[in-house]
Amino acid sequence: MDQQANLTDERPSFVSHLECSATGERTPADRPHNLSRVGKPLLVRYDLAAAAHSLTRAALATRPWDFWRYRELLPVRRAADIVSLGETVTPLVPLPRLAARAGGGELLVKDEGRLPTGSFKARGLALAVSMAKSFGLSHLAMPTNGNAGAALAAYASRAGMRATVFCPDDTPDINIAEIALQGARVWRVNGLIDDCGRIVAEGRAQVGWFDVSTLKEPYRIEGKKTMGLELAEQLGWTLPDVILYPTGGGTGLIGMWKAFDELEAIGLIGAERPRMVAVQAAGCAPIVKAWENGAEHAPRWEEAHTVAAGIRVPQAIGDFLILRAVRASGGFAIAVDDAAIEAARNEVAQHEGFLLCPEGAATYAAWRAARADGRIGREERAVLFNCAVGLKYPLPRSEAAIDRHRPIDFAALA
Ligand SMILES: *Cc1c(COP(=O)(O)O)cnc(C)c1O
Repeated sequence: MDQQANLTDERPSFVSHLECSATGERTPADRPHNLSRVGKPLLVRYDLAAAAHSLTRAALATRPWDFWRYRELLPVRRAADIVSLGETVTPLVPLPRLAARAGGGELLVKDEGRLPTGSFKARGLALAVSMAKSFGLSHLAMPTNGNAGAALAAYASRAGMRATVFCPDDTPDINIAEIALQGARVWRVNGLIDDCGRIVAEGRAQVGWFDVSTLKEPYRIEGKKTMGLELAEQLGWTLPDVILYPTGGGTGLIGMWKAFDELEAIGLIGAERPRMVAVQAAGCAPIVKAWENGAEHAPRWEEAHTVAAGIRVPQAIGDFLILRAVRASGGFAIAVDDAAIEAARNEVAQHEGFLLCPEGAATYAAWRAARADGRIGREERAVLFNCAVGLKYPLPRSEAAIDRHRPIDFAALA
């Protein structure tokens, strides 16, 4: 594949404007934005009629296998602004043995661990940093549970920008190390991600960095949206029956839901939609609680805790967008506890040779539970999201050892 050809292509822009996700108020796109006037996320809107002429199956057939292939539905106007580390289209890996053990159906994992920095946060930050470059911004800041900070650090360094990152003090060491090594300033904070977010907001007023928090600028979601575009293309312009998504801030779930509408509008898919399932950890399940209560917003979850650090988000600014997509799709929200997450990780690793991250394992645990209680049927095709490479997380230590100077009982060690 000729990556360079893609990156040097000049592209027409199909962005028409930005729109407040709560009020629908329109805003011109061509300057930096955070939240809308009423403090809600801004969404990018495109001239889809024009995009339909350019983003065709025939055009896609000639493009490199990376997510910039969907450029008509991405916000970057000039190829020179693209900041890239090689954003491959991630594979859909089937788990046939575990599907058969559960009684049939089709189970696919979209393996986001193959992306730069080892997580799907690369999708959002590739776009956010490219747009920041196009606006001439030079210093970006964010709160993170680890993976987003790592992606910001990498893409900001790639673009020659400064990055300052704040994370809860119990963020996995590997994440803090990679953030620092990739050139950002990283600070541990004695609080949770929303406490870190407040520090970013305060600092913005004082030192003028640009806030790239989840859904507090309009472009990370456009990057995450590419998961939905890829999925549709990989499945031959059809969509699965069910998508199980490990939900923190919910950018990916909201982004995919948006992607499906855009694909329908340009004629690449029809009106069918998957059921969207928001998976959370039992120790931090604000969306599940709001879904069960029929509420439109999800109040802060107190004393949030889980081994799945990426979904330890006590309060999400896009809560209403997540809940709307889940409900409109006929899906549901479900919580799984840490013991189920660890058991799921072990089961998939041992029976399929696939080491999921804890957040990805949560989606498998949720699939198992939903198959057991009938919410997902035997014949359905389900897609799980493995959002990061399993190796980024602490793994249980294996203690077995032998003394090579003593007789070895081979029957016992095989
Ligand atoms: C950030 C993250 C999530 C949650 O993604 P959102 O789209 O913000 O809900 C899930 N898993 C991992 C590994 C993450 O890093």
